[in-house]
Amino acid sequence: QGSLTIVGTGIQLGGHLTLAAQAWIKQADKLLFAVADPVTAKWLQTLNPTAEALPYNTDCDRRRQTYGEMVDRIMEAVRAGGNICAVFYGHPGVFADPAHGAIAQARREGYSALMLPGISAEDCLFADIGIDPGKGGCQSFEATDFLIRQRKFDPNSHLILWQVALIGNRGFYQEGSEKRGLKVLAEVLQQDYPGDHQVVIYEAAVYYPVCQPVINHIPLHSLPQAKVTTVSTLYVPPIGPAPVDQEMMVRLGMDK
Ligand code: SAM
Repeated sequence: QGSLTIVGTGIQLGGHLTLAAQAWIKQADKLLFAVADPVTAKWLQTLNPTAEALPYNTDCDRRRQTYGEMVDRIMEAVRAGGNICAVFYGHPGVFADPAHGAIAQARREGYSALMLPGISAEDCLFADIGIDPGKGGCQSFEATDFLIRQRKFDPNSHLILWQVALIGNRGFYQEGSEKRGLKVLAEVLQQDYPGDHQVVIYEAAVYYPVCQPVINHIPLHSLPQAKVTTVSTLYVPPIGPAPVDQEMMVRLGMDK
């Protein structure tokens, strides 16, 4: 009877892998991985020689299609038997549809399936930019979803927008194509924030300590000209603290 364990590498090569994830990677009968960079792929092969890359077909028009192919490959391995471990980068359950899809499919078919948490880009952002999501609250959205569903958010809380280089793009990144989406995003955000509000284009260091994180402070109005990559995340700081509801403080007995 096959089983499935899905683990994350974290963002930083080597240093972010938990001991539990490493143990599952090493003892798996078959290791599958969806990690973007070749160094991590090579390293996984040294931990487990059965390591095989999951299909990543950039010829199709939609990312969704290649995600379906990943789930199919994972399930094929699970059905063949043994302990299967699938590795994604960062936290395997954060912006990783195929990881959740494979866990759900494996459970539907009666296999034991488990996801272990990992260190996500957002976790690195809290540490590198120095913000605490517990202070004022923190909202996190995929950038296209944020725009097309007109997500309600509070400009007095932290705002994190993922995949800002892929706004409006159902397929794969093409250099230069991000300008249009960034222009729309800047316009929409300027309905709630002043144009000179300082925002941050953030990229956590993958090869620390060789590389440093990118923490690029820019005024919101210049977002369309900003250099972003597929691994950029946008951080928008709160415009200020939210006002306190005195009546609520009385109701909660906090007035004394
Ligand atoms: N599973 C990943 C995680 O746990 O962070 C997220 C994968 S998601 C498909 C890709 C998005 O994650 C990027 O567009 C970016 O917003 C964010 N991201 C990935 N790597 C990053 C990095 N090194 N620094 C900042 N953000 C990153």
